[in-house]
Amino acid sequence: MTLALPLDGGCLCGALRYRVKALPLGVIMCHCDNCKRRTGSAFSLSMITWRKDFEVLSGETLTSDNSGGSGAIHRQHVCPKCFTRTHTEMMAYPNVINVRPGTLDRPRDVTPVAQVWTGVAQPWALAPDVPRFEENPTDVLQLFNDWQERHG
Ligand SMILES: [Zn+2]
Ligand SMILES: [Zn+2]
Repeated sequence: MTLALPLDGGCLCGALRYRVKALPLGVIMCHCDNCKRRTGSAFSLSMITWRKDFEVLSGETLTSDNSGGSGAIHRQHVCPKCFTRTHTEMMAYPNVINVRPGTLDRPRDVTPVAQVWTGVAQPWALAPDVPRFEENPTDVLQLFNDWQERHG
């Protein structure tokens, strides 16, 4: 399905709004324990986007730096009024932004190309038709190519 651009999204209270102006690199589900704890849920969704294509349109963000599963620092951005997490900076990869696609205005427009850390997944949270990787995927660029072919 061709993705209609731009992709707009924002927080629950509406104060924080953002726009993704061009096709993202890809969307991945993560079942790791860090993602479970941070979301209070069973998995997280990551939509990796070029930083040059991402823009905060309105509102401020509160940030918190935590180490990700790899030990690298991830800077989480939340709305200071409603605490919705809209995006994450992965400090080791300054050219990209990890947008949280559940905060898109049309969240059903994007689908994940892979699910990672399935080795520690809640069995009932595994998506049936999404390729599985026990830990991190071996070839992320190939996954992103597949995603862009599907959505471009
Ligand atoms: Zn808000
Ligand atoms: Zn994770």
